Amino acid sequence: MQVLQILKTKGDDSVATIAPGSTVAAVAEALSQRRIGALIVSRDGKHVDGIVSERDVVRELGRRGPSVLNLPVDEIMTKNAVGCARTDTTDQVMERMSEGRFRHMPVMDGDVMIGLVSIGDVVKARLSELQLEKEALTGMIMGN
Ligand code: AMP
Repeated sequence: MQVLQILKTKGDDSVATIAPGSTVAAVAEALSQRRIGALIVSRDGKHVDGIVSERDVVRELGRRGPSVLNLPVDEIMTKNAVGCARTDTTDQVMERMSEGRFRHMPVMDGDVMIGLVSIGDVVKARLSELQLEKEALTGMIMGN
């Protein structure tokens, strides 16, 4: 399955973003309100300036204490977010997430962001692929 199909299944192609310069407190608030694990840092909602996840917030809170909440997100985000293309397969995305030890990837069309996939989306897609394969094989064996 390709990333394109995951995006179609998700239905909502909007990506949760936050503007550079926003505070870490605003990041925590958005993550909590939206019940998500990461935000794309973007000045216009299309170009990726960085990515910030709950892990960055927790790590920096642990390192620097609560004063980190007043810092701009730019200071704790990962600047070089690794993206994927809509034609990439679930296997390729899983491999890149596993190698990079992250769980979120912006989907890019050139330098424009067109969606976001999380490890949850990819695992769900892979499970449904495996289910279809299982049903096809069972059908072949049973002669259905
Ligand atoms: P996550 O597993 O997505 O919560 O992120 C773990 C760490 O990887 C955090 O430091 C994130 O800022 C960073 N990160 C998350 N997604 C990406 C990505 N697509 N490319 C590079 N770094 C990322």
